[in-house]
Amino acid sequence: MSYAIALRCRRCGREYPLEPIYVCEFCFGPLEVMYNYEAIARAISKKSIGSGPLTMWRYRPLLPVESDEVVDINGGFTPLVKAKNLAKKLGLEQLYLKNDCVNPSYSFKDRNVSVAATKAKEFGFDTIACASTGNLACSVAAHAARAGLKAFVFIPADLEKGKVIGAAIYGPTLVAVKGSYDEVNRLCSEVADRYNWAFVNINIRPYYSEGSKTLAYEVAEQLGWRAPDHAIVPVASGSLFAKIWKGFHEFANLGFIERVPTRMHVAQAEGSAPIVHAYAEGSKEIRPVKPNTIARSLAIGNPADGHFVLRILKESNGSACGVTDEEVVEGMKLLAQTEGIFAETAGGVTIATLKRLVASGVIKSHELVVAYITGNGLKTQEAVEEVVKPLIIQPSLGSFEQALKKEQQGETLEAQRVPGKK
Ligand SMILES: *Cc1c(COP(=O)(O)O)cnc(C)c1O
Ligand SMILES: [Zn+2]
Repeated sequence: MSYAIALRCRRCGREYPLEPIYVCEFCFGPLEVMYNYEAIARAISKKSIGSGPLTMWRYRPLLPVESDEVVDINGGFTPLVKAKNLAKKLGLEQLYLKNDCVNPSYSFKDRNVSVAATKAKEFGFDTIACASTGNLACSVAAHAARAGLKAFVFIPADLEKGKVIGAAIYGPTLVAVKGSYDEVNRLCSEVADRYNWAFVNINIRPYYSEGSKTLAYEVAEQLGWRAPDHAIVPVASGSLFAKIWKGFHEFANLGFIERVPTRMHVAQAEGSAPIVHAYAEGSKEIRPVKPNTIARSLAIGNPADGHFVLRILKESNGSACGVTDEEVVEGMKLLAQTEGIFAETAGGVTIATLKRLVASGVIKSHELVVAYITGNGLKTQEAVEEVVKPLIIQPSLGSFEQALKKEQQGETLEAQRVPGKK
């Protein structure tokens, strides 16, 4: 059974039955799942959650599924890492990283797709599909394989190899579209009108997006039932950002955490930062952009939930930051070299944003900070190929020691060099 009771338009408040629909017929606003929170409060407690499975499904009463048999590849309940080295480097005392690199298909999208694929089966669809910037394609294909569903995944043709292979391996029909993500998405809306498929991020988006709430629940639980002072979230369509905010508030309303002091910060790459621009201009309108950044998973020029993100920025006294591709690469290296976490470009965006927020004094050294690391670096290797500088040697000890000596001399020279003089 499910505690979901209806879909409701986020713009005009009209209610709809729980069907595979996603826009309001009257005002074209997006639909969102409503729950019977009184019944949820009676049914679950911190204790019952604590004894649940070590996956995102420990929060099942707060997710909109009916069936007992969920489509599950064991996504979620990922580590919340206390990042001591990185904190020290940045001058922070309480920095945590939510490491969603280690999900089964290597990004947080497994949380959304696990819910969406379960709903697709409940609705009787035999095919799931998506428009993807990469990670979603991998996750949809993996869940389809697990559930015995057919899968069609649509991606921009020039995507990183790690994401293309990372989706293709599960055997979906892979459709490479010669165009940008926004064009892929537009095409998929037309395909969704014509074919009776469950497009996880189109016609069953209200259910799909609910999966992201678990990234708030887990962080709150892992912090000992509290919400952080700051959350830094990489933003593409804005869905993840909005659902983390919703998740913290649901926990507060259920009495699982005392309050939500969290200031929400948007992390985008400068080359695809429509929300950052609107925020900087104090505008309520999002002007679409043509993305150009190495952070491909965030490269959405026309963010569906941008309007809601702006509202949350205001409500939470948050901020929005656009970082350069150079900073993205630096962020990826910094994260790997301080904490041993190899994140994809979106993780670099998050770390670069964190760095800026500390430098500008928005984040104070004693405050509790959570940075969301949402995807794995093995999928975006192209971005950091420059780190590969091996000692190339013959298979002999002599050759090794010669190379070692040269390397050490090089380091000494480097250390002796007067800063500024080359
Ligand atoms: C999809 C994605 C996001 C954010 O997506 P939203 O559309 O804003 O929900 C963030 N990081 C990674 C790695 C992603 O794949
Ligand atoms: Zn409406």
